[in-house]
Amino acid sequence: MKKKKLNIVLFGPPGAGKGTQSQFLIERYGLVHLSTGDLLRAEIKAESPLGLQAQEIIGRGDLVNDDIVIAMIRNKIEAHHAAAGFIFDGFPRTKAQAEALDGMLNSKSEPITAMLALEVPEEELVKRLLNRGKTSQRADDQDEAVIRKRIGEYEQKTAPLKEYYSAQGKYTGIDGVGTIAEITGRLVQAIGE
Ligand code: ADP
Repeated sequence: MKKKKLNIVLFGPPGAGKGTQSQFLIERYGLVHLSTGDLLRAEIKAESPLGLQAQEIIGRGDLVNDDIVIAMIRNKIEAHHAAAGFIFDGFPRTKAQAEALDGMLNSKSEPITAMLALEVPEEELVKRLLNRGKTSQRADDQDEAVIRKRIGEYEQKTAPLKEYYSAQGKYTGIDGVGTIAEITGRLVQAIGE
């Protein structure tokens, strides 16, 4: 019988540590990491038409159009159909994205296994992002107003997805404050494999 895939949504506000923790989880479970932020930054770097459009939106702290990020994720899922599973990082960010993702995965009978939500207080997020901005070259991490805008967008459009996954019995909150290793330990325990 086909082994069940491990498809994880790693969830949380900007600065919660999703990218850092993804690195540990992909190694441990052999998963493919799909970060829409990374995919968009690659487009920006390549100066593609999509990248030029995304750059302006990201620079303001707004969300990129649902259709664009959904198409990016769809392509990547198709390209890695033999993977042991995926870690979705920074996606879905809206209800339309979550519904589209469910549509893609359920049609392959490979549904989301769990949504793990890293929880970190806002002031700690702002501190972490300003710190990251000193070394990351990311313009959106260098301006406190843009950082707060992103956190506001998260609260308004993305945080409600906790209820969406809760209704499917898939939501688990994870304390995102502590050492990197402590937080990895909490995630691994929640995955339970
Ligand atoms: P962070 O979560 O630290 O803000 P990301 O790298 O996940 O960083 O995303 C950076 C920016 O890229 C977001 O502020 C947003 O403008 C855009 N973006 C990334 N993923 C999505 C998505 N799924 N939907 C809409 N916009 C997105």
